[in-house]
Amino acid sequence: MITIDCTWCDAELVLDSLDASRVDCPDCRVTVDIANDPEPIAIAA
Ligand SMILES: [Zn+2]
Repeated sequence: MITIDCTWCDAELVLDSLDASRVDCPDCRVTVDIANDPEPIAIAA
């Protein structure tokens, strides 16, 4: 399981896999694009 913190509300977002390039935050109703981030923010747990 991979989790990241939402940039806007700091909610914990769960990714299905490392292949995911973006994740939806249900609280903000935004799509967080993680593919273009120069530094990996996803942490495998
Ligand atoms: Zn959010």
